[in-house]
Amino acid sequence: MIERLRGDGPKFSIEFFPPRDTADEAVLWKAIRELEPYDPAYMSITYGAGGSSRDGTVRSIARVATETTLVPMAHLTAVNHSVAELRNVIGWYASVGVRNILALRGDPPGDVYGEWIPHPEGLTYAEELVQLVRELGDFCVGVSAYTYGHPRSSDLESDTKYLVRKLRAGADFAIAQLFHDPEDFLRLRDRVAATGCDVPVLPGVMPLTTMRTLQTTIKLSGAPAPRKVLDRLEPLADDPKAFRAAGIDVTTELCEKLLAEGVPNLHFYTFNRSKATREVIARLGLVPARA
Ligand code: FAD
Repeated sequence: MIERLRGDGPKFSIEFFPPRDTADEAVLWKAIRELEPYDPAYMSITYGAGGSSRDGTVRSIARVATETTLVPMAHLTAVNHSVAELRNVIGWYASVGVRNILALRGDPPGDVYGEWIPHPEGLTYAEELVQLVRELGDFCVGVSAYTYGHPRSSDLESDTKYLVRKLRAGADFAIAQLFHDPEDFLRLRDRVAATGCDVPVLPGVMPLTTMRTLQTTIKLSGAPAPRKVLDRLEPLADDPKAFRAAGIDVTTELCEKLLAEGVPNLHFYTFNRSKATREVIARLGLVPARA
């Protein structure tokens, strides 16, 4: 998969979450089918804290691998898994043709900021999961990165140190958590490059279509949105149509700046909807001729 990211010209990728029921499944598959002709570099499905959500990930990613032309990447976390169970899931992914894994530690179920207690026979950091996936076969491995540092990191210096350790443990690329100012992402990219590590870091982008999406991106990014973004969007809070139009403008401009800075791939968090992502990639000129 990494070859697709290194190919000619900028690319984009798309992320989904697993369906909880048959209605969700229909929504997910509508979005997948609508984005398939756009030939993303890869598509990924997140991995939940347990139970049916995990089943939804493995079932959906297997279906993508067997029924679509998309390149699938499965997320995997160390939460509540022994090493033996992680080996099983990785082996299962491989058996259905999924050779790309986003290796994550994950958060404690229920309270993401609660105490991290590793499974007694499990792993503590994503770095160890990267090593495990690498040991088990010829996989392309991605990891997460945080533009403003992971919430549990004491400072940016230690955050960068552990990110680079994780990359050097065998990751092919990293995907960054959300941000609103392209300069902030470019500073993360520079921090990694300054250590001599040349593993690509891809920006995570969520199209701003509603006031709720704006609030979600602020929460997930871990930093306030810049005043210039809020000044354009907040006055439109009571006009959903105007908000959406301005939000797509803001998202497109952010992506344009990233592409101008040589970023090789834009990773879109789709929330299992395709329309906004399709609009942004069309405005960026990233739609292949055959779509
Ligand atoms: P790690 O890289 O292990 O880092 C966790 C913390 O430990 C950081 O503060 C880090 O600096 C520190 N650290 C790392 N190594 C060491 C070390 N050796 N010694 C001391 N400290 C260390 N969550 C899900 O549950 N499912 C998903 O599908 C999912 N997908 C995601 C996709 C993306 C693109 C991103 C950005 C996040 C995703 N997450 C997902 C959230 C992620 O699981 C959480 O943010 C989690 O808290 C950290 O996981 P990690 O892999 O970054 O952890």
